[in-house]
Amino acid sequence: MTDNDTLRRFLFEHLGIRGELVRLSASWQALHQDHHYPDTVLSELGQAIAASILLSATIKYDGSLILQMEGSGPLTMLVAQATSQRTFRGLAHWNDTVEPGDLHAIHGEGRLVITLQPSGAGDRYQGIVPLTGADLAGALGAYFQQSEQLDTGLWLAANASQATGLLLQKLPDRQSDDADAWNRIAQLAATLTDSEMLQLSGEAIIHRLFHEEDVRLFEAEPVSFRCGCSRERVAQAIRGLGRSEAESILAEQGTISADCEFCNRHYAFDPVDVEALFVASPVSSPSSGNH
Ligand SMILES: [Zn+2]
Repeated sequence: MTDNDTLRRFLFEHLGIRGELVRLSASWQALHQDHHYPDTVLSELGQAIAASILLSATIKYDGSLILQMEGSGPLTMLVAQATSQRTFRGLAHWNDTVEPGDLHAIHGEGRLVITLQPSGAGDRYQGIVPLTGADLAGALGAYFQQSEQLDTGLWLAANASQATGLLLQKLPDRQSDDADAWNRIAQLAATLTDSEMLQLSGEAIIHRLFHEEDVRLFEAEPVSFRCGCSRERVAQAIRGLGRSEAESILAEQGTISADCEFCNRHYAFDPVDVEALFVASPVSSPSSGNH
């Protein structure tokens, strides 16, 4: 059985440390197949997608976790979003050639904003991570260490066919008798190479690193690429323009069309569609229940 396109949690029960491993293959390829990203941009985006899934799975909530990076460097914007339903989407914008390098070389002067957006009512949370250091995994690990006081380690790797991420985190409410446990587990994880991350199955990675430890593996959860866009959302945006603005676009262009940047889906509204958006709002009509 393959564990591609899954998230797998595991636990070092006696050490008070939890782990998560995400491995994306077909779902990751579906995300980027129509975008023609250069190799370095692909690698950065895949790492950010893997990180967003790992981080969203550390929190009990209903909604989405968004990593957004903006900077003055060749990779100008990158966004990765993962939901509590284990779906993800993301995209990147770049200028010129993006050479491999550290975060500053790739993003320039920039920052990473982590947003936790609940799907219903509730406050959204934002944290800001400086884009400094060797890579995203290091920047996120340092952020959790400093701002959340949580020992957290991330390891991320991505190419065109695969995106893989490993997260280890000390459980905040658990004291272990084994004082050196965190250092030992983190040092084992640090021996993992990028090519192992991209080639080995999830179970093989966990076995390769932790076969001498007592690890409890949980069921793999499926993870999929899904964009939240819909015709109804585009319709709402057109209603938001107001009737006269919508009609002036129709007069100029014949139809109102929108392309989703995340999934390349194309939405078009002709004059009849637009007229229907502005006639009696369906919200006020009582539900008849006569079907
Ligand atoms: Zn879309």
